[in-house]
Amino acid sequence: MIKVVKFGGSSLADAKQFQKVRNIIESDDSRVYAVPSAPGKRYDADIKITDLLYECYELASTGKNFYEPFLAVKDRYNEIILGLGLNFSLKDSFDEIENKLLSSPEKDYTASRGEYLNGLVMSNYLGWDFIDAADVIFFDENGNFDSAKTNAVLSSELEKHEHAVIPGFYGTDFDGKIKTFSRGGSDITGSIVAAACRAVVYENWTDVSGLLTADPHIVSNPAVMRNITYRELRELAYMGASVIHEDAIFPVKKAGIPINIRNTNKPEDPGTWIVENTARRSKYTITGIAGRKNFCSIVIAKDLMHSQPDFYRKVVQCFEEKNIPLEHLLSGIDTMTVIVHESKFIDNEQEILSRISKLAQPESLEVESGISLIAVVGRSMKSQTGTASKIFSALADARINIRMIDQGASELNIIVGVLNEDFERAIRSIYHIFVDVEK
Ligand code: ASP
Repeated sequence: MIKVVKFGGSSLADAKQFQKVRNIIESDDSRVYAVPSAPGKRYDADIKITDLLYECYELASTGKNFYEPFLAVKDRYNEIILGLGLNFSLKDSFDEIENKLLSSPEKDYTASRGEYLNGLVMSNYLGWDFIDAADVIFFDENGNFDSAKTNAVLSSELEKHEHAVIPGFYGTDFDGKIKTFSRGGSDITGSIVAAACRAVVYENWTDVSGLLTADPHIVSNPAVMRNITYRELRELAYMGASVIHEDAIFPVKKAGIPINIRNTNKPEDPGTWIVENTARRSKYTITGIAGRKNFCSIVIAKDLMHSQPDFYRKVVQCFEEKNIPLEHLLSGIDTMTVIVHESKFIDNEQEILSRISKLAQPESLEVESGISLIAVVGRSMKSQTGTASKIFSALADARINIRMIDQGASELNIIVGVLNEDFERAIRSIYHIFVDVEK
């Protein structure tokens, strides 16, 4: 039985955190492959190693002196090494990075060194083998993750090691250069490693005891979810909930491996299980609430639009031509409403509106901005009557006007649109009616 453990930056921010990590690893023999992030923040005003490295690159690539941030990077690792009492030095690696910054600075290479160096420290501390992610994780000619090649190389490499540390966040691109995933991408590496060795679980260790039912900046002390399905997580992540990188889901999901989000500072907490399917009901009717601000609605009206089968297509085409993703499409008898994100739409607004006028020839076109969308997600909503009415009465009690409603037939998700200024209040009201009241 193999477990893959990934530790986030705050779990490896200093020597004390490294010791907690070792205790966690040593308390379970099946934890045999570890994926570290780069050291994160030790306190609020601290700077993550990855951010310092990006700064080194920015300075070096414009011919400026990068010694200050680079010294801060070296100091952090040296402090960790000293704090752990290791007889080990990163001097050669530091020199190599410095020479590269001086001769031919590369952004992804520089940023990836945070994980690379931390992987070396971790493997030395645990006495485990080190597998450079550059040798086992690959991107294709279009810059996308190459799962077939990676899986083949990585799984046969892992078989050669009883225990190994594989740094997160990067791999090698088609031209043989270092390439990173997007920020927070060590989560993806952990998932890839778990899939390659057919782990029984992918443990993702962080600094919270699991996924929260709502944003803690909006709801104070929100409940932790115990179980969530991949589909629910996708819905919530898309609508702004964060803890794990969105793309980290795919490798393990495909391999049928659950993710367990755990807290390095409270290892006794069970955390959240992210699973493909579960018979377990969530404690509350809803699994979670998430939302995003700043959407626009475009209401397109035309009498008898239903008698024109190509009307919808023409409208959709106008957005497609400008590569603007449609968030929602709602239809009335003689109206059609398109919801798009302001940031994607605003620069092309007039062009798109005139194109719709020309192509679809509507009777009127109305645009409204400043709309927030809130997703109320839960696999248990399907089997319960009155969920929608609870949401609406919570919002009505708070005197919040609902601008739109969208409930997919899967009943996994009810989306409501409210004005930006009502966003936080709306989330608190919905949270209250489901979580506080059902407690
Ligand atoms: N160190 C990288 C970042 O800060 C990747 C990660 O932590 O997952 O984004």
